[in-house]
Amino acid sequence: MARETVIRTSPADEARKQDAALRPKLLREVIGQRKVAERLEIAVCAAKKLGEPLGHILFDGPPGLGKTTFATVLPNELGTSIQMTSGPALAKPADLLPFLTNLDEGSILFIDEIHRLPRVVEEFIYPAMEDFRIDIVLGEGLAARTISMNLKRFTLIGATTRSGMLSGPMRDRFKMHEHLEFYSVQELAQIIRVNAAKLNTPITDEAALELARRSRGTPRIANARLYWTRNYAAALHDGVITEAIARAALDKAEVDREGLDKNDRKYLETLIDLYGGGPTGVEALAATINLAADTLSDEIEPYLLREQYITRSPRGRLAMPRAYQALGKLPPKTKPDNPQAALFE
Ligand code: ADP
Repeated sequence: MARETVIRTSPADEARKQDAALRPKLLREVIGQRKVAERLEIAVCAAKKLGEPLGHILFDGPPGLGKTTFATVLPNELGTSIQMTSGPALAKPADLLPFLTNLDEGSILFIDEIHRLPRVVEEFIYPAMEDFRIDIVLGEGLAARTISMNLKRFTLIGATTRSGMLSGPMRDRFKMHEHLEFYSVQELAQIIRVNAAKLNTPITDEAALELARRSRGTPRIANARLYWTRNYAAALHDGVITEAIARAALDKAEVDREGLDKNDRKYLETLIDLYGGGPTGVEALAATINLAADTLSDEIEPYLLREQYITRSPRGRLAMPRAYQALGKLPPKTKPDNPQAALFE
């Protein structure tokens, strides 16, 4: 009897599938990031007119802001194909070979988390980026010889949450560097309205704004909040998302009025209650909250920094007055230990 295959999907897989379903397909469908989109439109137009592949592009910025979205929109604009991989999946040069040998002329190779490429793979990729050629070493020791192999002309698109961790030579080989910023409430509300329509879910303008205000400036989070609210509206009401339903759904998900979730609040509570508002190092905070330091610096801190809940000093993270307010605590009048003391007065 044939054995049944059980396919399990993790919450992360689900989120990825939802992301893919809602991803814009063309540059003009991308909402916000106008300057980036305009520069890419020019680059695409030039590549088509000149019959050249698009120059290599590096996208950086916090998770969920659209790096993969831009990378997947470009092949549609150019009428070409894309292969996708990531830094941690490429442990050795041989792991990259199938991708390089499968390239079509002008096609795109997308490497997510490119800052995590091991140095040997990085060095292997340089001639591919510069001269569309790779050097393969055959044999070992004295018998070793290097053969050069020509590749189809392609475009490398790298995405990173940590552009500072990328080596100088790698960074220099990208023709365009595009930094993605957090989105405004209006832009997120528009994304939410468009995606609610894709999900056949009626939503009022006020409800879209309420979800947008509570989405940490991030489209991926806006999509997740929209999915949750759609399910909430379908399960407990008639499926229409009104402002009152959006509010109740997010309260139920423990997303507060400013959009901070459980992890954000745990971070701020730990910083204030346990470390007296700081300064304290990210490692100490991560160990106390029981999350990886990378999760803190990649996913939690960028938004808290941008919205001035916290600030960074050479001695570590510091809570700002807004953090105390968000937790319903009184900020200390001044903190002698705090280089930002003036901000508390
Ligand atoms: P990143 O690669 O930066 O982590 P993604 O490109 O995967 O982020 O974006 C996550 C999701 O957010 C996408 O699937 C898409 O649905 C949505 N999204 C991101 N940027 C935009 C945008 N500018 N307009 C509309 N939707 C967007």
